Amino acid sequence: MTLLSQYLADALDRLERHHQTRSLVATRMSGPARLERQGHDLIDFSSNDYLGLARHPLLAERSAEWAIRHGSGSGASRLVTGTSPEHLAIEARIARFKGTEAALLFPTGWQLNAAVLAALLKAAPGTLLFTDRLVHGRVHAGAAGHRQIRFRDGPRLIVTESVFSMDGDRADVERLVRIAQAHDAFLYLDEAHATGVLGPDGAGLSRGITGKVDLVMGTFSKAMGCFGAYVAGSRLLIDYLVNACGGFIFSTAPPPAMLGAIDAALDLVPGMEAERQRLADHAVYLRARLAEHGIDTGASSTQIIPVIVGEAERAVTLSATLAAEGLLASAIRPPTVPQGTSRLRIVLRASHTREDVDQLLHALVRQLR
Ligand SMILES: *Cc1c(COP(=O)(O)O)cnc(C)c1O
Repeated sequence: MTLLSQYLADALDRLERHHQTRSLVATRMSGPARLERQGHDLIDFSSNDYLGLARHPLLAERSAEWAIRHGSGSGASRLVTGTSPEHLAIEARIARFKGTEAALLFPTGWQLNAAVLAALLKAAPGTLLFTDRLVHGRVHAGAAGHRQIRFRDGPRLIVTESVFSMDGDRADVERLVRIAQAHDAFLYLDEAHATGVLGPDGAGLSRGITGKVDLVMGTFSKAMGCFGAYVAGSRLLIDYLVNACGGFIFSTAPPPAMLGAIDAALDLVPGMEAERQRLADHAVYLRARLAEHGIDTGASSTQIIPVIVGEAERAVTLSATLAAEGLLASAIRPPTVPQGTSRLRIVLRASHTREDVDQLLHALVRQLR
């Protein structure tokens, strides 16, 4: 064993002692809101495929069509030969969807946040960065190592999610806009869990007030049912990223199959008002029933509903008990959430039936009483 491997083994041992090791389990989507895992059929209360688009035939067909027509790879980074007419057309569509001047595609939302934040901070190293305590791990990666040097009149950057991925509550975006304007701060909004689900046409919580939010990002991997991510904002912002964002410049352009699926998702999502309403109705119903039984769901006001149980082991045991009853809801533990707030993270879907939701409700009530 090399010395480095020894360090890796030690790190895993430490996690093991704190009941924090994780492992990969093969799972397949097997129907609307159904998963198959290790020979068991489960109702899916975990994945982020809120509108059921991940298995929609139009996305799969257009993805296959564009791959057959344009190939499996894009050949180079965007600034070399990787920009196809489809990249530009999709970016123009995203900008229209979000109501911004321009937009830019990235391979994933995680990579986008890491790369874009790093690029913004590179332009102004003295920037004072304000984030929420529970802001996603994806955001922190981009600010890693950023030392905050306070200049009296230096630039300010506010980074937040519009829907918080672990608590399922919403940021007051209009208030944040006012705060940002009052303090000359740049507002960076992560709409990963709002895109497709909230706002006019499912275009996110910033849709009504774009132009006032300096940067909006979101992913196509959740409600949009496919893969990839976007940043939307002013022409100036996008021009800067094309010229200065290493994670954009040095990465191969997204392939045709990804673009085809995004194109189909953008065709469908604005018209999915009935699905958005069903999702919202399920959430209102489940929160109300849980509250009647004294079960704490924090400040959730979206399709993400945390059932906060406290210690990590308790959350893991609860999740395993539900899985044995055919219900898959993941346990979320530190370091993803603060100590003592381990939880079951329940994710609702438009394709759940009221019976699915009731089955989960009854199982929770039985276990938590
Ligand atoms: C899922 C998520 C991302 C990352 O998006 P991917 O495209 O899956 O990498 C970014 N931010 C938040 C808040 C997320 O929940």
